[in-house]
Amino acid sequence: MEIQTDKITQLIKEQIEKYEGAIDITEVGEVIEIGDGVARVSGLENVMSSELVELPNGVFGMALNLEADNVGLVLFGETRLVKEGDLAKRTGKVVEVPVGEAMLGRVVNPLGQPIDGKGPIDTPHSLPIERKALGVMARQPVTEPLQSGIKAIDSMIPVGRGQRELIIGDRQTGKTAVAIDTIINQKYTHQTDKPVYCIYVAIGQKASTVATLVGELEANGAMEYTTVVAANASDPAPIQYIAPYAGAAMGEYFRDGGKHALIVYDDLSKQAVAYRQMSLVLRRPPGREAFPGDVFYLHSRLLERASKLSDDLGGGSLTALPIIETQEGDVSAYIPTNVISITDGQIYLETNLFNSGIRPAIDVGLSVSRVGGNAQIKAMKSVAGTLRLDLAQYRELEAFAKFGSDLDKSTLAQLTRGERMVEILKQNQYVPMNVEKQIAIIFAASKGFLDDIEIGKVADFEKGLSDYLEANVSKALSAIVSEGSISEETEEALKTAIGDFKKGFTA
Ligand code: ATP
Ligand code: MG
Repeated sequence: MEIQTDKITQLIKEQIEKYEGAIDITEVGEVIEIGDGVARVSGLENVMSSELVELPNGVFGMALNLEADNVGLVLFGETRLVKEGDLAKRTGKVVEVPVGEAMLGRVVNPLGQPIDGKGPIDTPHSLPIERKALGVMARQPVTEPLQSGIKAIDSMIPVGRGQRELIIGDRQTGKTAVAIDTIINQKYTHQTDKPVYCIYVAIGQKASTVATLVGELEANGAMEYTTVVAANASDPAPIQYIAPYAGAAMGEYFRDGGKHALIVYDDLSKQAVAYRQMSLVLRRPPGREAFPGDVFYLHSRLLERASKLSDDLGGGSLTALPIIETQEGDVSAYIPTNVISITDGQIYLETNLFNSGIRPAIDVGLSVSRVGGNAQIKAMKSVAGTLRLDLAQYRELEAFAKFGSDLDKSTLAQLTRGERMVEILKQNQYVPMNVEKQIAIIFAASKGFLDDIEIGKVADFEKGLSDYLEANVSKALSAIVSEGSISEETEEALKTAIGDFKKGFTA
């Protein structure tokens, strides 16, 4: 999975030919300094930010730093192929990537070139990687759910189509797992008339990690509707830097065609580091944590591209799940605070929870979704309300219950309920659950059916109940979705079924 200079050169050349003559790009400059993947060029007075500039030996640079008397270019090719005094030619173009249905099922680099060995990608469409985000009039509020299939998320931190929800946490806390499960869960949408296409952008990860992940997506039947964009740790910083924008363009293709897409950026901390590296080499003044002053804009312009379009524009959506890695839970570091402020909420994953076996390790107190609630179906809203309350009470009591021995009855009851709620929110990887089953199980717990089930048996109970409900009251389950709420009739049917199952289970 290497980026090959000659291939990149060829692709960029093809793109440029398309535009030849469209604007005056006769300007030619001269390289005045070269080193560490960047070049400084004088004489390109009218060059645009992000414009491609052609250097000798098939090396292309992207203008990043526009100064009074020179421009800084980051190079996509090898530095040693360029020397001081070389000519630099404007191309009048920004980087474009191929987009379209043909990209689904494929693993590509940030220039859209296949790296999965499955041959060339034949698509008639392409889009510039940097596009202006849409204004207010082009959008409408988020109202349709984007089901993650993860109980703790769909019930308490619901995400809507067009939303930006941050996944944040330390190393190895299950951040990628949440994103991948959400992609796998989109499979069900492909049986509906509003399928969700997925793009997973891997930034600065090991090639082997990405390969494993692609394998998991394939094994779960999710590659059919997914594109993986990979800028690996061994790729040059500029390639890692452009990866999320390239992925966004691929997602916008679906959004702008009135369809729905989900994009995961895994992760933006590494992209920011690549950008810092480029900026330091370009000798831009370093600011807080040595990041350049415009690092906020790096992520804001990217995440603003996620949106739910107005009906006039086709009503398509692009939902973004950016991932940020924190150091020892420090959400007040520079990049985390930036991205928290740009997104519509965050799913906060916590190491202690993860290590104590609560997986997904979601800290419910610190996680929030500011817009997804409107997209949640009423039935889920009603059962989730009790859930949040039970959990909050449990958290309050838990700490202090460790000290006291005589607890009154009601306190004990709250502890019992809370423990079971925590237990049913645990969920393994690669087993997303549909919303009606999630509702039925949370319903069972919140109505107290699990209170006398031993903690160690809650998982078995849940699994058994899920199968039992599907086999015996599938009508009631589908009524939850078709009616959107839990009618009296459905409630009765559920209660009876849960009671019956429980008799068999405890016997
Ligand atoms: P990194 O910081 O390395 O990117 P991460 O935060 O993305 O890590 P993952 O790679 O998703 O974390 O998960 C870390 C480990 O925990 C993996 O081995 C994964 O299989 C396991 N894991 C994640 N979620 C769950 C879960 N719900 N149940 C059981 N195991 C899980
Ligand atoms: Mg990860």
